[in-house]
Amino acid sequence: MQDLFDLVVIGGGSGGIAAARRAAAHGARVALVEQAQMGGTCVHRGCVPKKLLMYAGQFRSAFDLAGAFGWSAGAPQFSMEHWQDAKVAELQRLESIYLGMLKNANVEIFCGRGTVVGEGSVIVGERQLRYRHLLIATGGRPATASIPGLDTALMSDELLELRVVPERLAVIGSGYIGIEFASMFARLGSEVSVFFRAHHPLTGFDKDLRVRLHQALEDVDVRLFARAELQSVARTDRGYEVGLADGRRLPFDVVLNATGRRPNAVNLGLENIGLPLLDSGAIEVDNHSRTKVPGVYAIGDVTNRLNLTPVAIAEGRAFADTLFGGLDVSIDYEQVATAVFTDPPIGSVGLSEERAAARGPTSVFETQFKPMLTAFAGRNVRSYMKLLVDSDNDKVLGIHMIGPDAPEIIQSLAVALRAGATKSEFDRTTAVHPTAAEEFVLMRDPTRRHNRVA
Ligand code: FAD
Repeated sequence: MQDLFDLVVIGGGSGGIAAARRAAAHGARVALVEQAQMGGTCVHRGCVPKKLLMYAGQFRSAFDLAGAFGWSAGAPQFSMEHWQDAKVAELQRLESIYLGMLKNANVEIFCGRGTVVGEGSVIVGERQLRYRHLLIATGGRPATASIPGLDTALMSDELLELRVVPERLAVIGSGYIGIEFASMFARLGSEVSVFFRAHHPLTGFDKDLRVRLHQALEDVDVRLFARAELQSVARTDRGYEVGLADGRRLPFDVVLNATGRRPNAVNLGLENIGLPLLDSGAIEVDNHSRTKVPGVYAIGDVTNRLNLTPVAIAEGRAFADTLFGGLDVSIDYEQVATAVFTDPPIGSVGLSEERAAARGPTSVFETQFKPMLTAFAGRNVRSYMKLLVDSDNDKVLGIHMIGPDAPEIIQSLAVALRAGATKSEFDRTTAVHPTAAEEFVLMRDPTRRHNRVA
């Protein structure tokens, strides 16, 4: 009975770690199985290295502006090799922190690939782990798309491993991952082209943000091929060739496949416990992360609900608090704030204007201004902010921003939205001056209204 656990977690990413620690804190005996580095996608191949790359790119803007403020320095040079080595060291540091936290929480760690071999049983290498409850937290993986040759392109994991900035980078797809990499590599000196099917990048976001991001990227010479019909991606002696339906053949050094991600639930042995997958490849769960098989749960990207780190963490904690803590916790997927770390960045929470207008009468408050930092340097850069307000009861429905510090600003405003703040409460809030964020409490008159949809 030595290897009987109250909970076996497969996957040591954001969700799995959070669930394992919380379950152990409630007194459960927990095994956590991880096949690669502890920390998962966010720490090793996602949020963290991506943001470190964004910071690297931001220095370019700082150097560009410094002269206007009186600074002079030599021509700046970027070494991706240096960044790469420093990144590896930083991620190792973070991984050791996670390992330490798990050890302190008495979570037992098993390194290797976990496979479900039958009811109540997981194997990891030679070890068999018996479980009372099983949590699958195996995350997502990049999708391979249907365009011929796209499987030869790099995935975001590999782009983050580059040791040289590509001269010519093609990004296929304009979701947040693709568009962030496009923006970052443009700041680092790549000549970037983005190919996508929609009119504007970032489908699903508020249209005013999408249109402005489109313009901002073009302003820094990112080539946006909207409504592109891609025919092929082919390897050449010098890199790649991207073929368009109109006959054009464009050469690139590196191509990024950013056409999306899929749940990572294959080859886990789920058929051995009779757990089917949805057509999307996701594990179906209810609002307590229970699958159709008693005692088996799933959280995070493998369930394909809202694929963000804080959501995976919240799902993991809710699962553990409910199963082992005697609470009844489920997640509210509305009003989850999101950021896009482009230059300029985006912060967004609540309904887009399109969705707000579709649900009922909506007043739109918006403002646009030149941020002090860039205006001083004579740049024609603009920040944009928007509040969407229910015209019937004055409740704020959506808050959107594109401009410097948007992700930081939106995090605080998400609290106001969650608390059900009204526009009048925004109006009664005294501004912090001089900041960009103060504009959110200084919008007086709506720029347009949408009436109730018939
Ligand atoms: P993961 O973190 O993917 O962890 C799953 C773990 O399971 C992995 O460590 C894997 O090795 C392990 N595993 C899989 N199968 C097995 C097995 N059979 N046995 C043992 N171990 C196994 N989210 C944000 O909120 N903000 C961002 O800015 C952001 N940026 C991103 C940028 C990129 C490039 C990418 C790819 C993702 C980004 N995300 C971001 C999304 C975020 O990383 C994920 O939503 C989050 O990591 C999901 O956590 P998870 O626990 O479900 O899975």
